[in-house]
Amino acid sequence: MKDLHTCLNAMTVDVEDFFHVSAFDKIIKPADWENFNPRVDNNTRRLLDIFARHGVKSTFFVLGWVAERYPQLIKEIHAQGHEIASHGYAHRRASEQSREEFKQDVVRSKQHLEDLLGEAVIGYRAPSFSIGYSNEWAFEVLVELGFVYSSSTYPVKHDLYGTPDWPRFAYNRPENIIEIPIPTLKMFGRQVPIGGGGYFRLYPYGMTRHLVRKYLEKEKQPYSFYFHPWEIDAEQPRLTQASAKSRFRHYVNLQHTEAKLERLLQDFNWSTMKDVYGVNA
Ligand SMILES: [Zn+2]
Repeated sequence: MKDLHTCLNAMTVDVEDFFHVSAFDKIIKPADWENFNPRVDNNTRRLLDIFARHGVKSTFFVLGWVAERYPQLIKEIHAQGHEIASHGYAHRRASEQSREEFKQDVVRSKQHLEDLLGEAVIGYRAPSFSIGYSNEWAFEVLVELGFVYSSSTYPVKHDLYGTPDWPRFAYNRPENIIEIPIPTLKMFGRQVPIGGGGYFRLYPYGMTRHLVRKYLEKEKQPYSFYFHPWEIDAEQPRLTQASAKSRFRHYVNLQHTEAKLERLLQDFNWSTMKDVYGVNA
């Protein structure tokens, strides 16, 4: 393996707003989304500036709802050399949809992005890593729609998602699509989630760096990191109706996340999913 400092890892952003997240879907329905003041445009632009400062290219899994409202933003992300991929249209968990509903949701987002950019969109990430034991057919649908890779599984035990006994590294599915699972580390007899999100905000930065280094040394696989634009937005409105657990997961350490992200961008080498995993249309 290449030196830890030169090996290339995948930076990914799920482009959605604070009111789209699955942790709040019991209290905020899609029909309510129009009642919020969107912050995703500004937050994503801030992220673009941070990436530009560090010379980092990333894959942006864009929610169709966002792309429809902010076409200029999506074009700018693309113009800056980042990869645009799909996060579906309405942020519904794949595991809570029928095959046909899932297909309609994904096709709507893919077509819209492709019309906007004039090129093929080949990557997909399911909301809340919601492809698993109960809906492997989702991979067949993704292949039908022309996707080349997916990053929709998290091999951990979690109350909302997780496929702990599925592969932990990028692999070719029997349906003929590459699945790039969110990274985990084997520690204390279990698989610890180290891919980003709430865990990144919860752990002190030194801990994240240690875990990523350990992963790279031990597994000799590229690491991939996921992040949301709202995670650098400490000023976002607080949703007091949500459960204590959901609020903790969403709001913990927002004020420190931007600084942590800058350190992460500095300490490792990053590029897009396409680049790191060598996937192409
Ligand atoms: Zn999401």
